[in-house]
This record gives sequence, structure tokens and C-alpha cells, in this order.
Amino acid sequence: ESFEDMELKRDILADIKFREYDKPSPIQAQAIPVILSGRDVLGCAETGSGKTAAFSIPMIQHALNQAPLRQGDGPFAIVMAPTRELAQQIETEAKTFTRSSKGFRTAIIVGGTNMSEQRSMLRGGVQIVVATPGRLIDHLQQGNTNLARVSFVVLDEADRMLDMGFEPQIREVLMNLPKPHQTLLFSATMPVEVEALAADYLNKPVKVKV
Ligand code: AMP
Repeated sequence: ESFEDMELKRDILADIKFREYDKPSPIQAQAIPVILSGRDVLGCAETGSGKTAAFSIPMIQHALNQAPLRQGDGPFAIVMAPTRELAQQIETEAKTFTRSSKGFRTAIIVGGTNMSEQRSMLRGGVQIVVATPGRLIDHLQQGNTNLARVSFVVLDEADRMLDMGFEPQIREVLMNLPKPHQTLLFSATMPVEVEALAADYLNKPVKVKV
């Protein structure tokens, strides 16, 4: 199994090469083809498994398949993560797969940092938003961005997000997404609360476990 066998765009393959990933990790080999096929995914995976690239690579391919970006457009894809640090890591990693895609815009939307800088980034139009749930809701409520074009959403470390009390914010976002959309949920553990969230919002998910 190789990245070349995965029907990825040439620009993305070039970026993977530049990143010096020789071959897909087990979760990438399982998840990337399934995500590219449009299915929802319920992934049981720990940090260190390569899950960030497993969802970022097909997410970027999805965004590149959408209409060109215009000023003020809301994102095509949203990633929600429990902490600032994790959101930052995800955005940094995702960006490495957009290196060859000129003009590709991602935004990092997290608490504890300047709201106005994030506002101007969002208002300029972005393809991908990586966010902590509370701050994402703040920007949505202020009209700085919108969910109108979102067709791809990732919940990363869902168990930790629920532990931290983000369930209402997560449900608020998921409930207001346009249909159809593709949903991916990754979690290190699968307590009943995570399974309930998956049952409510994932459509016949493919289960991926490493
Ligand atoms: P993650 O589980 O997403 O936090 O990734 C763990 C680490 O593995 C990160 O430093 C990634 O850059 C690295 N990584 C992810 N996928 C691959 C791959 N296919 N080959 C080599 N390193 C990888």
C-alpha cells in the first residue's frame, strides 16, 4: 500500500513526498481510501498513529474539489479539537499538505488569543477552519464566518472534548451543518457518551481501529 495508489491529486502527493512520508501508517492506509469515497468514519486511534494526516489529506483533497474561494466565504471543512495546542498541531500539519496549492487558506480559531486577528482571517475567506468548539461558536455568533458551505467535519479526540464539557457546542455546530456533509469522529477511547454522539451524527460510519 502506498500513497501513490490512493487516487490523490498530484499536488497533494508532491506535498506528501516533500514531507518525507514514505508510506501510509496503518490508520492512514485504512482511513484515507474510505474518507475519499465519501463515507463517514468512526476512528479509534491514539496520538502518534498518524491520524492527523489520515483525515487532513482527504480533507484537503475535498476542499480542492470545491468551488474557488471568494472573499468572505465560510469554510468547506471544519476540524474541532479539545485544546489550543492540538488545534495548532493539526493546522500546522494540515498546511504542509497545501504547500503546492497556491492561495489555499486555513484558519486556526482558538480561545485565549486575539479575536480580531482571527476575525480578519475568517472574513477574508478560508477553505479550512481548525477550531476549539467554544471559540468557533463565538465567531459564528458574531457573524465572522458561517457554516453555509461546510460539507466535511472532523471531531478529533472526541473523548477529551466531551470530558472538557464541549458537548453542547459540538452538537450546536453539527446540528446546524448543511446537508449532505461527511462526518469523521476520532477518539482514543469509546465511552458511551462518544458512542451516543456518533449514533446521533454519523451516517453508517466505517469503523477504523489501530
Ligand atoms: P499524529 O498521530 O497525527 O499526532 O502523528 C504522529 C507523528 O507521526 C507526527 O509527527 C506525524 O508528522 C508523523 N507521521 C504521520 N504520518 C506519517 C507517515 N506516513 N510517515 C511518517 N511519519 C508520519
